[in-house]
Amino acid sequence: MKSNCMKTIACLAIGSLVAMTSCKKQEPVDPILSHIDNSVRPQDDFFEYAHGTWFKQHPIPASEQSTGIFTAVDDTVQAQVYQICLEASATENPKGSNKQKIGDLYAAGMDSVALNANGINELKPEFDKIDAMKSLADLPATLAYLRTVGGGGFFSFGISQDDKNSNENSASLRQGGLSLPDRRFYVDEDAKSAEIRAKFVDYMQGLFKTMGYADAQAKASADNVMALEMAMAKSSRKTEDTRDPFKNYNKMSVAQVSKLMPAFNWNTYLNAMGLSKVDSIVVGQPEFFTALNGHLKQFKINDLKDYLKVGLLDNYANYMDDDLFMQYFNFYSKTLRGVQEPRPRWKRVVDVTNRVLGDLVGQVYVAEYLPKGTKEKFVEIGNAIKAEFANHIRNLDWMSEPTKEKALKKLEAVNMKLAYPDKWKDMSALEITRDSYVRNMMNYAGWNFKRMISRYGQPVDRTEWHMQPQTYNAYYSPSNNEICIPGCNIIVPGFDGRMPDDAILYAIIGGSTFGHEVTHGFDDTGCNYDAEGNLTNWWTDEDKAKFEAKTKMIVEQFNNYEVVDGLHINGENTQGENIADLGGLIMGFEAFKKTDQYKNNVIIGGFTPAQRYFLGHAQAWMMQFRPEALATRVKSDEHSPAKWRVLGPLSNTVEFYEAFNVKEGDKMWRPENERVKIW
Ligand SMILES: [Zn+2]
Repeated sequence: MKSNCMKTIACLAIGSLVAMTSCKKQEPVDPILSHIDNSVRPQDDFFEYAHGTWFKQHPIPASEQSTGIFTAVDDTVQAQVYQICLEASATENPKGSNKQKIGDLYAAGMDSVALNANGINELKPEFDKIDAMKSLADLPATLAYLRTVGGGGFFSFGISQDDKNSNENSASLRQGGLSLPDRRFYVDEDAKSAEIRAKFVDYMQGLFKTMGYADAQAKASADNVMALEMAMAKSSRKTEDTRDPFKNYNKMSVAQVSKLMPAFNWNTYLNAMGLSKVDSIVVGQPEFFTALNGHLKQFKINDLKDYLKVGLLDNYANYMDDDLFMQYFNFYSKTLRGVQEPRPRWKRVVDVTNRVLGDLVGQVYVAEYLPKGTKEKFVEIGNAIKAEFANHIRNLDWMSEPTKEKALKKLEAVNMKLAYPDKWKDMSALEITRDSYVRNMMNYAGWNFKRMISRYGQPVDRTEWHMQPQTYNAYYSPSNNEICIPGCNIIVPGFDGRMPDDAILYAIIGGSTFGHEVTHGFDDTGCNYDAEGNLTNWWTDEDKAKFEAKTKMIVEQFNNYEVVDGLHINGENTQGENIADLGGLIMGFEAFKKTDQYKNNVIIGGFTPAQRYFLGHAQAWMMQFRPEALATRVKSDEHSPAKWRVLGPLSNTVEFYEAFNVKEGDKMWRPENERVKIW
């Protein structure tokens, strides 16, 4: 899975998709129209124009980092999952049944009395295991054990689809082990970054005190862990430098990996995880492991223990007593995202239940809440978008015939996983009880770990879904050459159960969802995988050079956008998403041109079909964020913030210029030679 797209579509009320006609006597409100701020010129700032009134009417609640389409959708889905949780927890269910698990996980999370009485008791045996390490030689077995209880650190290890042989699962090793959202939080030298680091050290100090450390020791331990993480961050590649899949694929024998990191016994580590047959490992960033070897030797064993203990507590603080939860909230939500107060407990527990038992909740969601006809509508839109993409490839003026042929073959082979899976995950081995919320979370970590390990030596299961039908998101997987569009993406906001007009549907579901995801197969990363999902260069050199010249223009355009306090978008890191947004916008529009609404020039709310399509595109990204949340996202997210997902693609699109009469001198205008069109 490569691209978690955070694409968003939402709706405040879902009706049956096929029940299109409304019998209400009053003319229903057109949400597209009611959001507009006419004091802003669409030619200058289309984002504020399209949403300004809505933003003024909907300030960000104290418990949220943002508001907009995302939160509207979240509220809708959350209310449905809440009903599923309440119903399951109110009844006696057979042990091991889906309802028993859903009901008991929810009930355990709501039991604040038990949570506060237990404190960190559940983790004490794990802290003891870490403390039992006598020297660095004990680290591999301890790290392997910690993986089974949701702990660990230093790097990221897993069993996953092999980039160069997509039918096989291989062992993979990547840089990792950092607590803050990105290495930039450690290395950026501005005052705000320094302040966040100081608050992170304070937060760790609090966690050490919770573990029983005396004040001075807690401070010293927090400082040492920060020094260790700082050293690891400095040894890590920049996030944008992890985008090139060729440079981040280094298959090595276990002996070669051991040479990178002789202080760590890899055979012990692999054997302890039940992976004695592993003979090779795909290493993402070999130089990180060479450096890590030095850090492990340089820091004292007590520092390594402190790092693992505080990391484990950090992983679970969100699910523990009120005091720990507030420590966690104050750093991750307040400091990093500007949130003023926590969400009510029921909302937090519903979200956790939905995430942990997503496939079990999803089965009920599909049966009881997903509008009928969703899958069929998705098939229709998906095929329309694929057909448009194929047309575009055939007509590209910069690509040669041999590369076009391969691109078309890849497009044709894109597998579409739509609405909901045919086969659900088997979660029967996961034990969930009402006794302990934290223990349930640890069981889940162990279940996930075993599932991951069991993949080794097994063929890749291409039917598996990596999202649930009730997840407001979508993804493209380059190794499977597939798009996955969960069912709830059918929902469009504000239409109160009515079917939106095609301009809106084709913009949000066609362009921002299907078009965006399919384009990921042809973004800076995805373009390196072939029709079968294998990492290989299928381009002619000349075509690749022309493609890269275009992506470079996109990178520069987005580098120029200042988001907050001198902080600019990272054009390198966000280029894949920006390419996908641009491609999606165009494919959706081309598909929309085939509809009756467009062909008959149907005016709705005073807007032409084309104008309404671009308003629909803006609607897909109607989000406003707190400045702290924006800053954190800019430093760590591979997506541009919502506003620039509207402004960026539209400023490159001549059809938008024509629809809204954008002229030289308008802020949305770019000279023709600076406009980018890739697909
Ligand atoms: Zn994406």
